[in-house]
Amino acid sequence: MMTIARLHDLFESHAGSTTLSFEGRCHDCQKDMNVMVALSPEGFDISGGALFEPEPDKFFTKCDECYRSSPRLSGYQTCEVYSRVVGYLRPVSQWNEGKQAEFADRKHYRV
Ligand SMILES: [Zn+2]
Repeated sequence: MMTIARLHDLFESHAGSTTLSFEGRCHDCQKDMNVMVALSPEGFDISGGALFEPEPDKFFTKCDECYRSSPRLSGYQTCEVYSRVVGYLRPVSQWNEGKQAEFADRKHYRV
C-alpha cells in the first residue's frame, strides 16, 4: 500500500495540485478504473479504489469490490534485470548509483 509520506511526496512533486488521478485497470478484474486522491484538511481523501506502489513509481490500482475480497496486491514480483558491468553479469539493482545512471543512459540498437 501507499504510505502517507509517499502521498505527501507525490503532492509535493506536483506542486499546486490538490487532486491526483491514477487511471488504469483493476489489478484483479481488469476493469477500467480511476483512483482519485484529494488533499483535504483531514488528510487524504482516496476514492474509486485502492492504490499500490510495490516499488518506486510502479503504481497499481484495485477496484473497491476486489479490494474488499482481497486487500493485498498478489501475484506481483519485481523483475530482476541482469546486465554486464565491469566485465561481470550482475543484477542492475545491485550496481552502484553511478553505474545505474549509466545503465539508464544506454541505448538499444536493432541490427
Ligand atoms: Zn476489480
